[in-house]
Amino acid sequence: MTPPVNVHIVGAGLAGLSAAVELASTGATIHLYEAAKAAGGRCRSYYDPHLHMETDNGNHLMLSGNHHALNYQEKIGGLEHLALSPDARFQFTDLRNGDRWAIAPPTGNFPFGILSKTSRPPEARLRDYLEILKLMLSQSDTPIEQKMRCDGPLYHKFLRPVLLAALNTDPASASSALARQVLRDTLMKGAQACKPIMARRGLSKALIDPALSCLKKHGATQYFSTRVLGLSLTDTHATSLHFDGHSKTLAPTDIVILATPPQFAKTLIPGVKTPDDFNAIVNIHFAVAAPHDLAPITGVIGATTEWLFAYEDRLSVTISAANKLLERTNQQIAEDTWREASMIADLNMPMPRWRVVREKRATFAATPSQNALRPGAKTPFSNVLLAGDWTATGLPATIEGAIKSGKTAAGLAQALFANAQPANIDTPASKTRDIAYASYR
Ligand SMILES: Cc1cc2nc3c(=O)[nH]c(=O)nc-3n(C[C@H](O)[C@H](O)[C@H](O)COP(=O)(O)OP(=O)(O)OC[C@H]3O[C@@H](n4cnc5c(N)ncnc54)[C@H](O)[C@@H]3O)c2cc1C
Repeated sequence: MTPPVNVHIVGAGLAGLSAAVELASTGATIHLYEAAKAAGGRCRSYYDPHLHMETDNGNHLMLSGNHHALNYQEKIGGLEHLALSPDARFQFTDLRNGDRWAIAPPTGNFPFGILSKTSRPPEARLRDYLEILKLMLSQSDTPIEQKMRCDGPLYHKFLRPVLLAALNTDPASASSALARQVLRDTLMKGAQACKPIMARRGLSKALIDPALSCLKKHGATQYFSTRVLGLSLTDTHATSLHFDGHSKTLAPTDIVILATPPQFAKTLIPGVKTPDDFNAIVNIHFAVAAPHDLAPITGVIGATTEWLFAYEDRLSVTISAANKLLERTNQQIAEDTWREASMIADLNMPMPRWRVVREKRATFAATPSQNALRPGAKTPFSNVLLAGDWTATGLPATIEGAIKSGKTAAGLAQALFANAQPANIDTPASKTRDIAYASYR
């Protein structure tokens, strides 16, 4: 008979929530610990008193080919809070010369359909697509520029902005393996996998709150403002979890899933390698209703703005791989991007209330060397598993990757308790020592 199992999930970002949701219906008792006041991590909504509105830390875009994310959304409910675009159409503008164009990936798998002009940016030639084929047919993980020519109209007017958003790293130096996987899951599958999905009424309403309700229904305990400070580990397994002022002893069959950012996991698990180089994302929210005829998202070339998102109550700019931008003041960033946003949206008015949100460590830098540092979900400690967008998911640090990582950890946890093998088998070699009691605040 399978003994009762407690699963302690540390971190209520999407990876932790995904693991919790997967395990909630298995009979395991879920304990979810989150250091912040609310769940969501890097994908969250909050009330901004200056803008007088509920807003998100950053604009998040998913595509209909993100099947792990959609599967998670089906499980938790709340689909009505996600807006799935009826067609796969991407609007672009070049602010240097005012050119505007739209790209609609063809129905049917790549490369069929690229003969259609609607599938190509202006001036892109068919032979430019051979460069994408070179990337797709390559095998090893090197910077993309070693696999294909990072130049030409197709690259600058479509591929670069798309890969920059997906990888949060300048594509020329980014991981070719991660780029291939992104393209395999989306563009290579044609229009049906490229329809944009946005949480138009906020990330938390769509992706976080329904997960918490689902977990509550299944009896999971949720602890907020509860930071895990350390783990006691033997040579083989974890024996207790430490919080500010108290500890929890783990039962022999208990499992811990660490779904925190890599910096913390690293302090707890001796010897674990994790990515250690991060890229920023900067978002600028402007409290002005988007004009009705403005596309929900517009890719912007030749400007500081990279993507302009249109919401009912705000216009919002996203800039990826924005480390250099951090040197500028918020006022400068807001003024520059407002000038650009108001040109694209055709608004002639003074700058409205604004907020610059700097996420300095938005994601790990998706370079081949950082990609090689990503650990799997298993650790040397039999009852400790890892989850997070930075683990070895084969995907960049995205919603899709975070959710996939949670599912992977949940699958391994299930395998552990299906075998009904108490993880904490006491042997003389496994005398408890606090080898990783972290003082992380
Ligand atoms: C500005 C921005 C824009 C983005 N845009 C997109 C996009 O358009 N599309 C896309 O797919 N992805 C996007 N992403 C990436 C996406 O948000 C992340 O990949 C995803 O949210 C990561 O989830 P996670 O659970 O792995 O990590 P996190 O969200 O970081 O969750 C980790 C959680 O652990 C908690 N924690 C940390 N330490 C402890 C502790 N000791 N005890 C308890 N809890 C702890 C943290 O508070 C946090 O809630 C964007 C990210 C940012 C920042």
